[in-house]
Amino acid sequence: MIDSFGRPITYLRVSVTDRCNLRCFYCMTDDPEFLPRRDILDIEELERLCRVFVRLGVRKIRITGGEPLVRRGIMDLLRPLGQEIAAGRLRELCLTTNGMQLARFAPALAATGVRRINVSLDSLDADVFRRITRGGDLATVLHGVSAARDAGLAVKINAVALRGVNDGGLGDLVAWCGEQGFDLTLIETMPLGGLAASRAMQYLPLDEVRRHLARNWTLVPSDYRTDGPARYWDIRETGCRLGCIEAMSHCFCASCNRVRLTAAGSLNLCLGRSDSVDLRTLLRTHDSDAHLERAILAAVAAKPEGHDFAIGAGIPPVSFRRMYQTGG
Ligand code: SAM
Ligand code: SF4
Repeated sequence: MIDSFGRPITYLRVSVTDRCNLRCFYCMTDDPEFLPRRDILDIEELERLCRVFVRLGVRKIRITGGEPLVRRGIMDLLRPLGQEIAAGRLRELCLTTNGMQLARFAPALAATGVRRINVSLDSLDADVFRRITRGGDLATVLHGVSAARDAGLAVKINAVALRGVNDGGLGDLVAWCGEQGFDLTLIETMPLGGLAASRAMQYLPLDEVRRHLARNWTLVPSDYRTDGPARYWDIRETGCRLGCIEAMSHCFCASCNRVRLTAAGSLNLCLGRSDSVDLRTLLRTHDSDAHLERAILAAVAAKPEGHDFAIGAGIPPVSFRRMYQTGG
């Protein structure tokens, strides 16, 4: 699949649920509206769609949400997708999680063929963590992360940088990841969903964070690249990498290789745009995959060139969908 700007689309992010056991304030309100269950794809429908995408050239699938590990039957989706890896049709199957259920699921995850997971962890201060997640328990996540490592999963930590919230603790996160041997990726907060004035004030450009970290750490720019939008620095003292996803300050759309499938079967071509294509109706009304394939190819051909994120007091959000609704 190649879009009209010549970008090969090889990466599919699949949201398996919009539900979550945390309520991170930058992701959702404290009283979010979730999709009615009948609108959510069942596990067989998700598997069928993933297989269609793999046939069309997707080589990497990331399972996300909402929180993917609260989705009932999630292992019944991961197992057959793991077999696509064994058969050489898929290169990588990974998962993004908040880590709350990892202690329970880590060995089963490793057995399905998942090799790498991203764990979202914005602070190592239990109070700050509880405040960001509106009630999350840091110890549970740390326990889950250890279980994942013990199960042989490669762990990467993701943290959203928030001015006046967790910025004082980002150095601690660098040190801890160094001790554990984990790479760390920092993310600029993106203006998705209703933008409270507080969110504009919490936006923290990552070049500012790097300048601050450079007082204690030697950050060496690295040529390392993944399929993702991050730019990397080697941290000389720890031997680990620092990734930075700067959707706001450094646009990375020119190398975008991904599309997103929501839990309701909508195909989103760009995180920062509201348009989407409904695949659920086609899925539920046709036994053959031909219509799905045509709709996916047409959607990819129309993938927009890029987002137009802007953040600041009074600037409306570019998309009224929040991250838990799109699949982060
Ligand atoms: N629940 C899982 C987790 O938290 O890792 C997976 C889904 S979550 C929506 C995926 C990622 O999106 C998380 O790393 C989260 O920090 C990030 N995220 C959510 N809202 C965001 C926003 N407005 N700006 C930047 N990142 C955001
Ligand atoms: Fe849940 Fe992940 Fe959103 Fe936090 S960022 S509320 S853990 S979906």
